[in-house]
Amino acid sequence: MDYYTKREKRRKMTSYIADSAVFIMGNCNVDSSLLITVPSVVDELKSRDAVLRFDLAKEGGLRVEWPEPEMVKEVREKAEQTRDSEELSKTDLEILAKALEHRETAVLLTDDYAVQNVAVQLGIQVKPIAQKKIKDVLIWQKQCIGCKKTFEKGDECPICGSPLKKKRKKRLKSKSHQES
Ligand SMILES: [Zn+2]
Repeated sequence: MDYYTKREKRRKMTSYIADSAVFIMGNCNVDSSLLITVPSVVDELKSRDAVLRFDLAKEGGLRVEWPEPEMVKEVREKAEQTRDSEELSKTDLEILAKALEHRETAVLLTDDYAVQNVAVQLGIQVKPIAQKKIKDVLIWQKQCIGCKKTFEKGDECPICGSPLKKKRKKRLKSKSHQES
């Protein structure tokens, strides 16, 4: 039952519109061949690492496409309605325009609040880029306010009888979250 041609199948795959933050932060785990961005994104890449990531993504299949002028216009109008237009750079507008053009099949990767806001208003799917914050695991212990000895638990020091106070022992980084 090979109903769809290869080309049609390919079109049905989700692609991702990449905001400059995808290259600036470099912790996006989407395959480069599924990424689409606009030429002006390069203007926002200030660090060498970001430029390198952009170049590597291009080698890996990142598509750099000019935005459609009508789409840019539509985005600009929406941004004015939602009062986000002052917050949006030229690149932001173009990224949004590109996402709008691919609205049926693409997800916009961005952490920018104004961009997200306008995207949602335009019916564009949005996914944040930043890794969820690694949760610090706090380990608590009790310390005597008198003799400063530490204990696992209790309210009163078994040595000097002073009250015990909760004290942070250490922070462990959770290893359960790996996304790169
Ligand atoms: Zn004590």
